[in-house]
Amino acid sequence: MRDHTPNSWEARADAHGFHGFTDLTSLRERGAVVLTHGEGPYVFDVHGNSYLDANSGLWNMVAGFDHPGLAAAARAQYDRFPGYHSIFGRISDQAVMLSEKLSEVSPFEQAKVFYTNSGSEANDTLVKMLWLLGAHEGRPGRRKIITRKNAYHGVTAVAASMTGKPYNDLFGLPLPGFIHLTCPHYWREGLPGESEAEFTSRLGSELEEVIAREGADTIAGFVAEPVMGAGGAIPPSEGYFDTVIPILRAHGIPVVSDEVICGFGRTGHDWGCVRYGFVPDAIISSKNLTAGYFPMGAIILGPELGGRLSRAVDEIGEFPHAFTAAGHPVGAAIALKAIEVIMEGADGEAPLVDNVRSLTPAFEAGLARLAEHPNIGEWRGVGLMGALEAVRDKAAKTPFDSHLSVSERIANTCADLGLICRPLGQSVVLCPPFILTEAQIGEMFSKLASALDKVFDEVA
Ligand SMILES: *Cc1c(COP(=O)(O)O)cnc(C)c1O
Repeated sequence: MRDHTPNSWEARADAHGFHGFTDLTSLRERGAVVLTHGEGPYVFDVHGNSYLDANSGLWNMVAGFDHPGLAAAARAQYDRFPGYHSIFGRISDQAVMLSEKLSEVSPFEQAKVFYTNSGSEANDTLVKMLWLLGAHEGRPGRRKIITRKNAYHGVTAVAASMTGKPYNDLFGLPLPGFIHLTCPHYWREGLPGESEAEFTSRLGSELEEVIAREGADTIAGFVAEPVMGAGGAIPPSEGYFDTVIPILRAHGIPVVSDEVICGFGRTGHDWGCVRYGFVPDAIISSKNLTAGYFPMGAIILGPELGGRLSRAVDEIGEFPHAFTAAGHPVGAAIALKAIEVIMEGADGEAPLVDNVRSLTPAFEAGLARLAEHPNIGEWRGVGLMGALEAVRDKAAKTPFDSHLSVSERIANTCADLGLICRPLGQSVVLCPPFILTEAQIGEMFSKLASALDKVFDEVA
């Protein structure tokens, strides 16, 4: 499998690369997959193998790997003005236009936009905004942030503290004051005999208890992904947001929707909060914001929170926070094009979000069919994000022994068959590009079916 010759791409990738979020056993055995280019939803490695990338890169390459309009927007902007910051009262025209456009396409009547280079930075920035606001409004105690177990909000020290993953222990995180509620995953977290409605209402009670215990005046905000992404493509339980948002509102706690994955069409709606029928106080955006063609993140503040923050910084005289490359004109030009391509329809094509909606039934049917396997405990999905959860015993929902690395094996077997999908805990996550055809959906599921049969034969 792996090319072990000293000068191979695999050896070179290993010799000088320090790999994050990578299963090092697989990496050592198989070597890194070193990629050269892509076409549509396919990527190609240095040996000429092609892979259907059912992960859209990392959720983000939703328009595929060779979209002519996005690449042309980047080239044109590099020729015109290849870089500038957004600090000291200077800003590129592209960044100005992008803020206007994001305000227009946001679920807010009016929005204010602040740029970062990543989703993690956007979440860190949001928390600093909330901290500044509390201090300035005479409530300096308002510092705690509520998120959920299994949530993924990034890896910088504050964003990692918001992330509800066990690996944070390795870093001595979370920082104090980051509270993680129960993950709203009914299939895994529901108690025996508990209905989904009862489960949701139990999570509402938990939130009320946490607010009572901590004191509403110690809480700066609640941040949630509409559908949890890196937690394993987990949709909220029925009625979840309808239950928690009124509780948060009653206590004056700002609600932030982390739309780094869900925003820009992934759920079949422009925004995940729209899919679940709520309007947050702020949206965190990244990944799809540029369809993956440029590193960029944004905090999109709704009128109430944006207004309060604007007043606070007016009185202070400055918001002392910014990133050098944020609001980059090339990123902004690409994001403007991505909004056209995904939300509005560009160059005579229908908006890609329409394709997400029309592909969703075939995507769900494919997941449901594979979930008939005795070793698949649950399929779940919203729009074009979904997952299959492997189990040793379907009725008891017993997971496989972790040392079997079942999901890792499935993903490796898929890669041998020319399909990239993502192992996540005991589940396999699919989040294909929005440009997929029905035939490519068929290819994705038939390769995955072969891989599941092979791996479950080995381990079950
Ligand atoms: C990926 C992700 C982030 C972090 O974004 P980075 O650009 O990797 O820092 C934050 N929130 C969600 C929901 C994400 O999926």
